[in-house]
Amino acid sequence: MSSIIYPTTSFKATEQLILERGEGIYVYDNQGNQYLEGMAGLWCTSLGYGNEELISTVEEQMRKLTYSHMFGGKSHQVGMDLSDKLTEMVPVDNAKIFYGHSGSDANDSHIKMLRYYFNAIGKPEKRKIITRERAYHGVTVAAGSLTSLPVNLAHFDSPLEALGILRTDHAHYYHGAQNGETEAQFVDRITGNLEKMILEEGPETIAAFIAEPITGASGVIVPPAGYYEKVQAILSKYDIFFWADEVITGFGRTGNDFGSTTMGIKPDMMSFAKQMSSAYFPISASVIRGDMYEAMIDQSAETGVFGHGYTYSGHPVGCAVALKVMEIYQRDNIFEKAAKTGEYMQSKMAAFKDHPLVGDIRGAGMIGAIELVANKDKGTPFATGAVGGNIMKTCQDNGLIVRAVAGSSAAFCPPLVTTEAQIDEMFEKFGKSLDQTL
Ligand code: PLP
Repeated sequence: MSSIIYPTTSFKATEQLILERGEGIYVYDNQGNQYLEGMAGLWCTSLGYGNEELISTVEEQMRKLTYSHMFGGKSHQVGMDLSDKLTEMVPVDNAKIFYGHSGSDANDSHIKMLRYYFNAIGKPEKRKIITRERAYHGVTVAAGSLTSLPVNLAHFDSPLEALGILRTDHAHYYHGAQNGETEAQFVDRITGNLEKMILEEGPETIAAFIAEPITGASGVIVPPAGYYEKVQAILSKYDIFFWADEVITGFGRTGNDFGSTTMGIKPDMMSFAKQMSSAYFPISASVIRGDMYEAMIDQSAETGVFGHGYTYSGHPVGCAVALKVMEIYQRDNIFEKAAKTGEYMQSKMAAFKDHPLVGDIRGAGMIGAIELVANKDKGTPFATGAVGGNIMKTCQDNGLIVRAVAGSSAAFCPPLVTTEAQIDEMFEKFGKSLDQTL
């Protein structure tokens, strides 16, 4: 046992799997066993492992300019080119982009930019942020407070009060519907609760509403039709920003360029990481509307600076890799191909509907979850940990890496370059593992 403290792992846990190398959509452990990477690492290795173009890009940029910071406007061409490219791609008006290195710090930067912006326009009281139950927005003290999963909150004493975080309903119909509600009634109730919360708190105190267009870590929740339309109308009515956390859903994952496109959202702010560089280098982005940026210019003139930035904000190697990743996405029509493979993947998932261990099936594009139940008729969930401990381990023994999310769902998020034949292989291995559990 090594001296590593493993992230999001019991302190008691020892090494579970020691990986040595990766190629395409497969990874290999130190015993030479092959695994199909059904989770793209942690929802991130969109272009798979060992991509020579990306490896060369890292090497070339390392040789050219290994590092430069961006403080005080010190810049480099790849960073500027990447921001031009992202600005073209994102559905945010006149987008301006702040670079970081993880999804969590991208969300922290947004919290600070919101504060800065509302101070700048003379509305310092507009500072609360509405998040949702079952949300996952990272683990730093601030972003971790936007996260609602009990495991990420327990024992950390997150300063929710000080941060002004409010929690509204999740949009998970399978678990949230009450007394035989239809999807439409469910949507009306939870969006009604949202509006009530805004009115009770005072719209003038609320800066933004944050949502993953489709949640990942909490079980791949696809909200029912009409949900975001209603949410967006409420937010517009009360002048509250829609902040889309696209750390998982960005860049072709959900059958379109962004999860916001798939779900019909027009965001004011967006967060990116993961597939932004296909995980070849850590980089993230906090995207805001151009007019927010314009409004902050005067404020920074007063203090001299926007006093926020990381040593690795705009790391040239991260920028070069992300720029190459965008080029590959566009040149090779990765999003269009993934949309097609995604349809196939959803049909393969749907085929598990009648399996005695399957309670619910959800997803869009190349992300999905199959929720497992101990009793299909009653929808009785497995005891927490039973699924993670058993079925996922059986999958691993059968050469497939999937992830237990929200206790009892198996999440699927293979690299975007996965072929239909490999999707067949993934579900053949998963089906076999399920049957071995019966
Ligand atoms: N936001 C979302 C939607 C995520 O899924 C994650 C990570 O899974 C994060 C933020 C945090 O990203 P990171 O782990 O890079 O800090």
